[in-house]
Amino acid sequence: MSHNEVIIGIDLGTTNSEVAALIGDQPRVLGPGGTKMLPSCVGFSPQGQLLIGEAARNQLLVYPEMTVRSVKRKMGTEERFEIGKKTFTPPEISAFILRELVQWAQQELCTEVKKAVITVPAYFSDAQRQATQEAGQIAGLEIVRILNEPTAASLAYGFGDEAHRTAMVYDLGGGTFDVSIVSIEGDVTEVLASHGNNRLGGDDFDQLVLDRLLREFQARHGINLQDRHPVSYARLRWAAEEAKKRLSSEQYTRVREEALATTPDGKSLHLDLELSRQEYETMIRSLVESTLESVFQTLKDAGKQPDDIDVILLVGGSTRTPLVREMLEEHIGAPVRQDIHPDLCVALGAGLLASRLAGHDVHRVLVDVSPYSFGPSHMGMLNGELYPYCYSPIIKRNIPLPVTRTERYFTAVPYQKVIEVSVFQGDDSDALRNILVGNFAVEGLTPMAEENEVLCRMSLDLDGILKVEAIEKRTGLSKHIMIKDAIKPKSESELAQARERLRRFYSGRVDAIDAAWEEGMEANLESASGTSQGTEKTQTDPEVDATIAAAHRLIERSRQLLADIHDEDREDIIDLHEKIQEAIDASDRQTLSTNVNTLQELLFFIEGK
Ligand code: AMP
Repeated sequence: MSHNEVIIGIDLGTTNSEVAALIGDQPRVLGPGGTKMLPSCVGFSPQGQLLIGEAARNQLLVYPEMTVRSVKRKMGTEERFEIGKKTFTPPEISAFILRELVQWAQQELCTEVKKAVITVPAYFSDAQRQATQEAGQIAGLEIVRILNEPTAASLAYGFGDEAHRTAMVYDLGGGTFDVSIVSIEGDVTEVLASHGNNRLGGDDFDQLVLDRLLREFQARHGINLQDRHPVSYARLRWAAEEAKKRLSSEQYTRVREEALATTPDGKSLHLDLELSRQEYETMIRSLVESTLESVFQTLKDAGKQPDDIDVILLVGGSTRTPLVREMLEEHIGAPVRQDIHPDLCVALGAGLLASRLAGHDVHRVLVDVSPYSFGPSHMGMLNGELYPYCYSPIIKRNIPLPVTRTERYFTAVPYQKVIEVSVFQGDDSDALRNILVGNFAVEGLTPMAEENEVLCRMSLDLDGILKVEAIEKRTGLSKHIMIKDAIKPKSESELAQARERLRRFYSGRVDAIDAAWEEGMEANLESASGTSQGTEKTQTDPEVDATIAAAHRLIERSRQLLADIHDEDREDIIDLHEKIQEAIDASDRQTLSTNVNTLQELLFFIEGK
C-alpha cells in the first residue's frame, strides 16, 4: 500500500467507541473533548434529528424508545431496532457510529479517510464479524482488517516484536467481560482461548451502588424513588457511577444529591451519605470473583497454568477498580500492566496495526507513565516484627500520568497527636531500602484512645510534581507538601547516600542506627526540595547521635507503657514525644536533652509505681 495512504484504527465498543491514527510517528486517539470516547449510542430527538454519541446518551433516560445503546450485542442477529417510525438493522446503527468516528478522524487529520482496521471481541462468530464488515461498508469504509481486541491490546503494549510470550488480556468494560490467553511471537499474535460474560461489567457495579443509595433514601424518608420518580432515579444512577469511579482512587466518597423528592407539605428531601471503598468492595466482590471463574476456564482451555502467564494486560474502563487488579495479582501472580489507558488501549492497538498496514514503521504506543513507585512509610509488621518503616507504594510504577491515589492509615499509639509522613520512592517493602523524597508532620490530631484514621492522598502530574496530603478523617484536618521533580532520576550521589544509610542501618551498630537515619533524612530532604548545593556529606556530632539514639529508645520503651497507665501520664508522655521529635527535627540540642531528661524521670516515676 502507498506510504501516503491513511488507515485508521477503530474500537467499536459496547459502551464507547474510539478512533486512532498516526500523528507524527505515534498512533494517537483522535477526537474532540478530553475523553476522546464516543458513547456507542444512536437516537432521534422528538423533532426527528439524528443524535450520535453523547447527545444520544443524554436523551436515553428521557426517550429510551428513541435511542439505541449496546448495539454490539445484537451484531450478527436478525434483530431490528425501531426508532420512532423507522426500522434499522444492527449494522446500520453501527454505521452511524463509524461515520461519526470517521468525521472525527478527518477533522483532525485534515484529509479524507476511506480505510479502517476495526476490532471485535475474540469470541465474535463469523456472522458477527460479517455484520461488522457490513457496518463498515454502509459507512463508506473499506475494512482492511478485522482485528481481535486482545490482539490489539497486546500490539499496543508493543509485545509483537519481542521473544515468545504468553499474555492474559483481561477486558472488563461497561457491559461485557472477556478474558483471552494470547501467544505472541514476532509478528504473529494468536488467541489461544477466550471466555467471558457478555452480561457483566461496570453497569452491574453501578447498579449495586445505586441500590445502596435507594435503600438509604427509603430508610431515611420512606420513599422508593424507583417507583414514581424517574428523573431522580436517573440522577441517582449517574451519581452512583460517579461515586464508583471516585472510589477507584479515593478511600471514601460523599454522595450528595439535593431535592430528590418533596414531602406532601412541600419540603425538599435530600440524600447525603458517605461510601467507603471497603463497603463498595464488599458489594462487588462476588461479581469480581465470578470473573476469576472465566479466567481459570480460559487457562484450562488454552492448556496453560497460571505460572505460564508472562503478563496480564488490563483493558476496559472497569479494570481501574483496584479490587480487580488485587484479585488478579493474588490468584495469577503474573505482573499486571495497565500503563496504557485501559479505555483507549484497543483503539491504539488498532491504530498501530493500521499505521503499519499503511506502510509506517511503528512498533509501540507511547504513554506518559510514572517510572517509579511512591508511598509513605508506616508502622506495621515486617518479617513478623513490629517495624516503623514498613512501606507499600500508593502510586505504582508504570501507572499512566496524571494519577491520584488515597490510602488509609491508623495512628500507632493511643492519644497520638502527631503523625510524621515520610514519602519514599521505590518498591521495597522496607522503606529504608527506598529513597526518601519528602517528609512532613500532621499536627493537632484529635487525641483518642482508639485508632485514629488518617488518609494519605498522593497525586503525580505530567510534570513530575508530586503532591502529598495527609488528612485526619474525622476532622478533615490536613497538611500537604509539594515535591518538584519527583520522577527525575536520582543522581549517583543521592543513590550512594541511600545505600550508605542502609548499610549503616543494617551493619548492626545499633546505637548509630537512628542517627544514621536522621542524617539521611535531612540530606535527602534537602536534595528533594532543591536546597542542597554542595555534595559534601554532613558531619555529625557523635554526642548528638548518642542523645538521639537514647531518645528513640526511651520513646520506644515509654510507648509500650501507654496502654496501661493513667490518662494524665499518658498525655504527658505523648507531649514529651512530640517535643523530643521537634527538637530532633530542629537540631535543638538543648531542648532535646531537657525533654529526654524529663521523660526519663517520668518513666522512672511510673515504672516505680
Ligand atoms: P469501557 O466499556 O471500556 O469504555 O468501560 C466503561 C466502564 O468503565 C463503565 O462502566 C465506567 O463506569 C467504567 N469506568 C470508567 N472509569 C472508571 C474508574 N475510574 N473506576 C471504575 N470504573 C470506571
